[in-house]
Amino acid sequence: MRKPFVAGNWKMNKTVEQASLLVADLLPGLQAIEKIDRVLCPPYTSLMVISQMTAGTAIGLGAQNMHWEASGAFTGELAPAMVKEFCDYVILGHSERRAYFAETDETVNKKVKAAFAQGLTPIVCVGETLEENQAGRTAEVVKREVLEGFKGLDTANAEKLVVAYEPIWAIGTGKAASAEQAEEIIGTIVRASLAQSFGEAVADKIRILYGGSVKGNNAADFFAKPNIDGGLIGGASLKAEDFVKICQAAEDTLV
Ligand code: PEP
Repeated sequence: MRKPFVAGNWKMNKTVEQASLLVADLLPGLQAIEKIDRVLCPPYTSLMVISQMTAGTAIGLGAQNMHWEASGAFTGELAPAMVKEFCDYVILGHSERRAYFAETDETVNKKVKAAFAQGLTPIVCVGETLEENQAGRTAEVVKREVLEGFKGLDTANAEKLVVAYEPIWAIGTGKAASAEQAEEIIGTIVRASLAQSFGEAVADKIRILYGGSVKGNNAADFFAKPNIDGGLIGGASLKAEDFVKICQAAEDTLV
């Protein structure tokens, strides 16, 4: 039985003051949803304040990116140890970072290994563009991202992975994949590729999320699917009521 997992990716939104207000709104609802892992991934600047606000709760914190090197001349980057000061999780390989900041399967792989070496749990995003989808290349692209992104991991780390399947055409567009489409790719491509790399027993333990226009009113459809263990939520994670509703939908799968 995989514990449901819901993470909110705030992207480049919220000043520290705005972030504090959102967390104050989220806290009562999120604290009451105890049976799932729920994680907030605000911008770096708000991590310290939010870590203080969530201290003593089971609400997790994650960064949205990090460098793989421990220190050095990498202007504008954060090292794994700096992320670990506030976080237990880090989103890696988000499609926006792959598209706008030249992330590749190779750099994602280095970051995944650096995250585990620092005791961070990576939430790793994979997914195809609209063009790749329409050209019938979804399976090939997603399989490559999984096999290359997780190359060389040992099974003890692999089973701790959180993988988010996010079809890029569904991110921020309001056009979510259908729950059936998402289940099909997650089951037959993502989990199957993990099984190819690490064996079925390990692949069965890995939490796989769906992301892409998940809202309060469609989350339950995704979470009802056997291979979908939760969600990576962008836009709807900026609204307390929506995010709590999505987390509640994940917890409701347990009853
Ligand atoms: C995301 O950014 O990972 C995402 C899924 O965004 P949205 O929920 O806004 O589509």
